[in-house]
Amino acid sequence: MPEIEKLNRYIIQGISGVYDAYLEIKITSYARWTTSVTCCDSTREYLLLYRNRFVLLIFGLFVLLIGLSVQAQDKYTSARQTMVHAIEADAHFTSFFINKTALEPKVMEAMGKVPRHEFVPRKERHNAYENRPLPIGHGQTISQPYIVALMTDLLKPERQQKVLEVGTGSGYQAAILAELVDEVFTIEIIKPLGNQARQHLQQLNYDNVNVRVGDGYYGWEEHGPFDGIVVTAAASHIPPPLIQQLKPGGRMVIPVGSRFMIQQLVLVEKDAAGKVTTRQILPVRFVPLTGKH
Ligand code: SAM
Repeated sequence: MPEIEKLNRYIIQGISGVYDAYLEIKITSYARWTTSVTCCDSTREYLLLYRNRFVLLIFGLFVLLIGLSVQAQDKYTSARQTMVHAIEADAHFTSFFINKTALEPKVMEAMGKVPRHEFVPRKERHNAYENRPLPIGHGQTISQPYIVALMTDLLKPERQQKVLEVGTGSGYQAAILAELVDEVFTIEIIKPLGNQARQHLQQLNYDNVNVRVGDGYYGWEEHGPFDGIVVTAAASHIPPPLIQQLKPGGRMVIPVGSRFMIQQLVLVEKDAAGKVTTRQILPVRFVPLTGKH
């Protein structure tokens, strides 16, 4: 046999020897791990059994994870529907103030779609679909769903519109508006809240919402005038810069009053000629509009 052929054979035998030893170790350790391996009589069967069980285990875990996430989704979907019914009941209950017994179907659709649980702190998630305000940190709250729906309804949102929100908070009201109008501009005075809301809105693909940290009393002049303005903190008076930044034909909704007195939700309308009228809708309770104005 030529020398080169001998050398090749040694190399091949060497490699297969190492591979056999590797299999031996694997099978022995597997045999220690499970007794059922004794039923198999060939290396190939051991390995197939080993591999199939592993694949089955991974598949089982995958199915379990999908099951758990579907269950969580279902839980939130049905809780959200219950919240929508509670809003409908409140609209009926307050019909004397709002001059109708139901809010616009498209507003209710948005309320039934936006995942409120994504905008509340983790420890409040189990309460996310209760029809009440919840703490969001920094002494602030996410507003009651009925009030969010009512303020949105009062704006009479239309697809091509541009709306300003003062008081981003969690970003939830901005997300509801983003379902209904083309572009939303929202201002939050507390930096960590503004940054967190921006992050949540981005994660949920609300690309038509622009968040800014600052004092919303002065509005957002570069992007005005706006078709609608919603203020989600109580002011002692209607900020003149916001009236200025409202388009003719535009509507503003704002809670007016001090922290310790009854506040009124006020609808401000600017007609085509620029004349401004106000109308009190119903008593509310909001955190105060802060800032140095
Ligand atoms: N719309 C919010 C939501 O969906 O979660 C809830 C708003 S919370 C009731 C009121 C928010 O207004 C607070 O986050 C507060 O920090 C903010 N705020 C108070 N004064 C402000 C001001 N001058 N400019 C901007 N934001 C202000």
